Amino acid sequence: MTARKPATLAVHAGSHLESRARPVTPPIQMAAVSAFDDALALDEALEGKDFSYARIGAYNTELLEEAVAALEGAGDCAAYASGMAALKALFEAQGLKQGDRVVMAADGYGVTRALYKRLCAERGVELHAVALARPDAADQVRALAPRLLLAESVTNPLLAVPDLPRLAEAAHQVGALFAVDATFSSPALQQVLAQGADYAVQSTTKWLNGHSDALGGTVSGSAERLRPLKAARILDGAVLGPFEAWLTLRGVRTLPLRMQAHSANAQRVAQRLLAEPLIQRVLYPGLPDHPDHAVARRLLPHGFGGMVAFEIAGADRPCGFRFLEAVRLAKPAPSLGDVATLVMHAASASARRMTPEERARAGIGENLIRVSVGLEDPDEVADDLIQAVRAARR
Ligand SMILES: *Cc1c(COP(=O)(O)O)cnc(C)c1O
Repeated sequence: MTARKPATLAVHAGSHLESRARPVTPPIQMAAVSAFDDALALDEALEGKDFSYARIGAYNTELLEEAVAALEGAGDCAAYASGMAALKALFEAQGLKQGDRVVMAADGYGVTRALYKRLCAERGVELHAVALARPDAADQVRALAPRLLLAESVTNPLLAVPDLPRLAEAAHQVGALFAVDATFSSPALQQVLAQGADYAVQSTTKWLNGHSDALGGTVSGSAERLRPLKAARILDGAVLGPFEAWLTLRGVRTLPLRMQAHSANAQRVAQRLLAEPLIQRVLYPGLPDHPDHAVARRLLPHGFGGMVAFEIAGADRPCGFRFLEAVRLAKPAPSLGDVATLVMHAASASARRMTPEERARAGIGENLIRVSVGLEDPDEVADDLIQAVRAARR
């Protein structure tokens, strides 16, 4: 290249190194475009047989998809730029028409509710919200006969655990497809496809990434079910970037170990909170008095997860806010699944877009705090939460 002029050198020098080394961790392939010396190979790449253009297929995204599909026990997986993009792609793949029905969790993620409300309204699709962990939920699904049923594996913030095999049976009896947003349990604790779901959705932003440094989402299922989603993604373009895919895959490497530790820590924290007189109710699926404890034991055999919720006795919103400002170790932050403990005031955060009446009906009071228990020493976490409750009530 020495005979070339600076403008040419600037563009082409330093593009390639010969090496026989095989890195033990995948490199980050930032190239959005690949070139081929062989025109036939380029032609085949454009058919999807190799990487050519990153919206069609990308190295780090495919590695992540392979790992998530393996963990979900799925034939295939499609990764998206966020959990919401994954949920939108899932909806759009159904080809729903005027008069069709969708049933979704009444106590699920509020942003999903808002998105599905909009998507259904645009298409004249009827949307029904049902509390899917209630005993009559399967009957309601049968009576509504939807085309799509969307449940959440563990709900937010009350941590209800719906009986997925029962819901799957009801959905399939009326010809519905059954999708489960399993973000709260993660595939390390709950393989929802084996429990009857046709699609498993993850906001990988949470437990799979585990370190709060990349947004992402996945839809997993059989290769046949994933084919239209992957074809649509080439047109929609809601793809995950290579660095985000790499960071998420790095998180996935330790997911089973982290979920084991998060579950053990959350169980310990829940038990410690139970003993505090200023805390009137502790919600954790691993506690014997949790309404869905029996279902949780059956569906979450490897641990009950890292999420705990509790009510501060007699607290109003200002008291809830004082709690958030009184924690010293935990971080008040609107997410979950981090290695660090995160706390939220549920009514003003995840349930913010609900009316006070809707919140009251759902059982989400101003005194409800949600905790994503991290990997710190669990007694230090419990000590911090308890001192903050006492400070808030002072
Ligand atoms: C966070 C979350 C989402 C949305 O995921 P993003 O990655 O933030 O787009 C969807 N469902 C559940 C249950 C979530 O917790």
